[in-house]
Amino acid sequence: MAQASWQGTNLPRVGGFNRAVVLDTIRRHGEISRVELAQHTRLTAQTMSNIVRALIADGLVTENGHAPSTGGKRRVLLKVVPDAYSSVGLHLDPERITGVLLDMAGGVRIRSTRRLPDDAAPPAVAAALARTLQQLVRRSGIDESRVLGVGLAVPGPLDPAHRQVLSPPNLAGWGAVPLADIVAERAGLPVVMDNDATAAAIGERWAGGEHRSGSFVYAYWGSGVGIGVVLDDQVHRGVSGNAGEIGHLNSGGGRGCHCGRRGCLEAHCSMRAIVADWRAAGGEPTGTSTAQSYEELCRRAADGDAGAVKVLRQAATKLGQALATVVSVLDVDRVVLGGPALRHVSDLVRAQVSKVLAKQVWAPEVRPVQVSPALIGEDAGAVGAASLVLDHAYSPRLATLLGP
Ligand SMILES: [Zn+2]
Repeated sequence: MAQASWQGTNLPRVGGFNRAVVLDTIRRHGEISRVELAQHTRLTAQTMSNIVRALIADGLVTENGHAPSTGGKRRVLLKVVPDAYSSVGLHLDPERITGVLLDMAGGVRIRSTRRLPDDAAPPAVAAALARTLQQLVRRSGIDESRVLGVGLAVPGPLDPAHRQVLSPPNLAGWGAVPLADIVAERAGLPVVMDNDATAAAIGERWAGGEHRSGSFVYAYWGSGVGIGVVLDDQVHRGVSGNAGEIGHLNSGGGRGCHCGRRGCLEAHCSMRAIVADWRAAGGEPTGTSTAQSYEELCRRAADGDAGAVKVLRQAATKLGQALATVVSVLDVDRVVLGGPALRHVSDLVRAQVSKVLAKQVWAPEVRPVQVSPALIGEDAGAVGAASLVLDHAYSPRLATLLGP
């Protein structure tokens, strides 16, 4: 098991890193004794003890009773203080903005959702994002100085170096927009940004603790489809920060895609494409938007409508085929399925994806692939975005708090 990323180092000058590792290990375990903590982090008892003392003094960690006796002295358990600080996650998707306020233990304190403004130009969307944030903080009643920052989950592709969103699909006329800085200026808080699939994978890792340690692929199915990649407990972003953009992999056939190419996965798996397939197969959606019609399709499928089930199975097959390639390339054995497109049909999609993977993954005898439903439901993007802020590597305020 490669767990190196969660081990500390006993070298000097890395106090902040060790503090982050210790804090994260406590959070992932819920409750843990100092002895176990030293084992997990590989820090010396002395280093570990100093760090824990500092975390307690700063109000980030508290002692929480004793572990059951195993004969010797009962061990004091440590836990993160959930209310010490908060972070806000905002997910921008082509239909709506979802926001959550997360406590230090990763619990969702409050959520809110609003439709995108009719004028979905960047300034109006940034204003709506800032309003969602202010509303969350106000409704939660917490002091804004206790908010570590804001995480923004957006549809890719991104230019992380310039903190820009690059022509997101379904947001016409956007071009390259430095959204993170625009929101930061309006909100007066540090903003970190990632694509929605990667954010969702990070949220899953946070929420899942030991169940989501190691390596897995998170397939995020919303208006479009993308994956977040976690390898050996580390999120893999790639050279340009766009790892996991599988929506425009060639999946065969010559169907036109909204990106201008042909044969892309999203030409079969986007909500829009699936609704079009349903129509072509005789379905008669009554919704006034793609999202409404897609929801209608899913409800019908969940009720056993054979036509609706067939259309969804076709799309799930295409996704499964793409995931078979991903699994073989990365050599991972766990796929997590999540995102708003799975509402009502999670089991149906998962069964089909599992079936395709079982058939198409190379060398299943050494790597049987397990397909699991996501632990976080539709709010995965927003919760993941808020989790980004709790990840010391991306959060200036948390990094400062954890010290040099
Ligand atoms: Zn495409």
